[in-house]
Amino acid sequence: MGRVLVMLTAAAAVVACSVATVMVRRRVRRRRKWRKVVGLLKDLEESFETPLGRLRQMVDAIAVEMQAGLVSEGGSKLKMLLTFVDDLPNGSERGTYYALHLGGSYFRIIRVHLGGQRSSLEVQDIERHSIPTSLLNSTSEVLFDFLASSLQRFIEKEGHDSISSQDVKRELAFTFSFPVKQTSLSSGVLIKWTKGFAISEMAGEDIAECLQGAVDRRGLDIHVAALVNDTVGALSYGHYHDPDTIAAVVFGTGSNACYLERTDAIIKCQNPRTTSGSMVVNMEWGNFWSSRLPRTSYDIELDAESLNSNDMGFEKMIGGMYLGDIVRRVILRMSQESDIFGPISSILSTPFVLRTNSVSAMHEDDTPELHEVATILKHLGVPKVPLKVRKLVVKICDVVTRRAARLAAAGISGILKKLGRDGSVGEGRRRSSDKQMMRTVVAVEGGLYSNYRMFREYMDEALRDILGDDVARQVVIKAMEDGSSIGSALLLASSHSVRTISNI
Ligand code: ADP
Ligand code: MG
Repeated sequence: MGRVLVMLTAAAAVVACSVATVMVRRRVRRRRKWRKVVGLLKDLEESFETPLGRLRQMVDAIAVEMQAGLVSEGGSKLKMLLTFVDDLPNGSERGTYYALHLGGSYFRIIRVHLGGQRSSLEVQDIERHSIPTSLLNSTSEVLFDFLASSLQRFIEKEGHDSISSQDVKRELAFTFSFPVKQTSLSSGVLIKWTKGFAISEMAGEDIAECLQGAVDRRGLDIHVAALVNDTVGALSYGHYHDPDTIAAVVFGTGSNACYLERTDAIIKCQNPRTTSGSMVVNMEWGNFWSSRLPRTSYDIELDAESLNSNDMGFEKMIGGMYLGDIVRRVILRMSQESDIFGPISSILSTPFVLRTNSVSAMHEDDTPELHEVATILKHLGVPKVPLKVRKLVVKICDVVTRRAARLAAAGISGILKKLGRDGSVGEGRRRSSDKQMMRTVVAVEGGLYSNYRMFREYMDEALRDILGDDVARQVVIKAMEDGSSIGSALLLASSHSVRTISNI
């Protein structure tokens, strides 16, 4: 009996030892795996780094490229397009105007009434709809007929006191958020599609004419009287409220900027025909490129697999359409190189399956257990990962968004530098601290900016880092909800009042 007991005890000890060994081995393996993940994260952080010195080089590069783009057509990747907008709205405009805004993800239709004073601006109606994805690679006819039918529905629901009963044609501004070579305020040809649009045989077409044709085919009493880049709309709205507004930036599906330039600096345009001595220039900054941009293997892959590879390099690092996909690519690579996310999810391999609104939801998840992160990962086919892995995902979102926001800040600082408003020592200029800095307002619009707090905070922080506190205090970043759409209608109104006055 005693011997049996001894043998049983010995056997139990052996089993316990083996279990312990297995557990220790597993723990060691897990630790080793986690160390690998920590290494991957470190590499990620390094490759996405945007130290201040590098941002400053980018600021210089942007200012230089802006100059090159103003000197000659094709002189820079920045197209620096003429807009034929010289007078910006100032609050004295009157009348009822419409705008149809085709963005990257949404289209909006608005009707505004202006009573001749800033305070009397009334947005009478505004509609916002997602652009059906089937339109993105449809035909010109399908796209413009869709827009015209939406306009038709919009005006059909107007009340009897509306403009329709006054026997006046409706005046509409077409806010268009793709690169256009303007030939006047009311006409311009598409240079190329961006942001996932791929409607063939449209480059070179007059965009305003396309919409007017579709509107006429439906017998609508609408005159497409202005073709306005969305950034120019945002600038108009900003200027309407605050005359110190000299630039506008859109951070939405894509990203772009415009600013007010002296006509004598637009060397490529011999006869700019403006009365104010300045003209708004649409930078098309999404196409900015510099060897100083922190380009990673994720960016290279994203670009190679995109519809417009070798194009819009800056936009692909900061645009709302792309941030989610960069985060997806990082998670996918980590799940391939370690098994911390469990078996590799096929959903994770689907381009654009992770959207930037999910990135901000994960990044700003303030629940102790990171419930939002868990839910989104589950939708990506990655269920039940431990808390430390969820924390890792938040960190990935942080790394990708922080880079985007800091690059965005460098872009804005580049415009300020070009205008001599960044406080740096310029040709024959004194340091800003020696003189009174001019107050400068930059209008900002777009779903990425307005909905993603961490993006805004990182951008503000980087602006202060780049410009220094004294200069940054003079630079006001003003969010303009629906500014592109409303501002385009204001711009149309202002061009009408100029015409009315000059006709007298
Ligand atoms: P558009 O680009 O069509 O003019 P918006 O300016 O509204 O439209 O921008 C839409 C884009 O903003 C979306 O494609 C998305 O990338 C980004 N976005 C929207 N909501 C959020 C959010 N909650 N967090 C982060 N990004 C967002
Ligand atoms: Mg937009």
